[in-house]
Amino acid sequence: MSLIRNIFAALAMLLVLAACAQLPAKSELERQSDAALVVLVSIDGFRADYLDLGVTPNLSRLAKTGAHGAIRPSFPTKTFPNHYSLVTGLRPDRHGIIDNNMIDPEIPDVAFALSNRAAVRDARWWNDGTPIWVSAERAGIRSATLFWPGSEATIHGVRPSQWLSFRQSMSATARVEQVLAWLDGPAATRPRLITLYFDEVDTVGHFFGPDSLQVAEAAARTDMAIGQLTEGLKARGLKANLIVTADHGMAAVAPDRVIYLEDLASADLGRSLALGAFMTYYPAPGREVQAEAALLAPHPHMTCWRKGEIPARYHFGTHRRVSPIFCLPQTGWEITTRARRPPKGGNHGFDPYSPEMAAIFIGHGPAFARGRATPLTDNVDVYPLLARLLGVEPEANDGGETLINSALRR
Ligand code: AMP
Ligand code: ZN
Ligand code: ZN
Repeated sequence: MSLIRNIFAALAMLLVLAACAQLPAKSELERQSDAALVVLVSIDGFRADYLDLGVTPNLSRLAKTGAHGAIRPSFPTKTFPNHYSLVTGLRPDRHGIIDNNMIDPEIPDVAFALSNRAAVRDARWWNDGTPIWVSAERAGIRSATLFWPGSEATIHGVRPSQWLSFRQSMSATARVEQVLAWLDGPAATRPRLITLYFDEVDTVGHFFGPDSLQVAEAAARTDMAIGQLTEGLKARGLKANLIVTADHGMAAVAPDRVIYLEDLASADLGRSLALGAFMTYYPAPGREVQAEAALLAPHPHMTCWRKGEIPARYHFGTHRRVSPIFCLPQTGWEITTRARRPPKGGNHGFDPYSPEMAAIFIGHGPAFARGRATPLTDNVDVYPLLARLLGVEPEANDGGETLINSALRR
């Protein structure tokens, strides 16, 4: 009897062993990624070639010992549209944050603007996309956002576990300290996905232009905060897959490179909502034909399109929030009015295919290749990479696997 029991026990053991052999063994990369934090850092307006200024030793070290290249922003090359593309993998035309300033026939009497706190927190503006932190939270991965466009809204009923209201005056150092404080919290509340945002390089770039000493100084100061972050992670023995990127670059503008709206269309033909590096234009009811004739005519430094006729390479023009007419000047030129201050310093919002609009990309950590150059690719490719690093199922998106294939260890 006991012999038969032993034979059955041995058989059962063999079955268990056979079942285990069927399980796919986790690769070394997967096991390291499982444990590693994912930290997504945006340095607003950090143009891809700012790294060559030679003033950012921490970023240079990360680039050299990680994967490094440039990404092309989505159209239009503004802050909110591109931050949302980075975390959703969707083009602005699909995720609906089509500009920093916009109106929506389905949200009447509200103008979305960065300074409109109620709008920035209203999920109706954001719900066409599902940011990575929503997918992470749903998968049981805690997320914390030290600022990111969209992070203050309850998108599809979900907000990051930890987040703060945007406060531009919070210093870069204090932002890093807050992130490290979150990581010092009890294991149960510790985030595994973190976003961190720095704005000084963009602000100074607007004011003084991309080639200024002030931009180099701002880049150097932000680099110190990056150093503070990597040191803080090291001191805590935390392994992190770090992505450092930006929403767009910066191009020099000048008072003599201007296109005046008054010279193109009289005030009765319609009104512009956004001006500067592009113009969004709404013809007055009944004046559509005249407004189109005035704006769509060939111009030496600008092209305007009807909403549905924007070239396919821009992936833009179907969302209900896109204006009936969209005008894009030559990079470095601005569309303005005589009532506005003449352009000076720098701006973005220009053609994403201009080299000046390209943004930095660095991937560093256990999942990333060391010393690998990545090809120039679209910023929507960052999202599939984030999903891979976190091991969450990506939502339907416009991104591809270029960064996954080029930046990760093979
Ligand atoms: P832009 O006009 O495209 O250059 O926008 C850059 C500005 O966006 C920054 O200087 C910030 O003041 C602002 N900004 C960035 N993130 C946020 C946020 N989460 N909420 C409100 N404003 C923001
Ligand atoms: Zn920006
Ligand atoms: Zn800016």
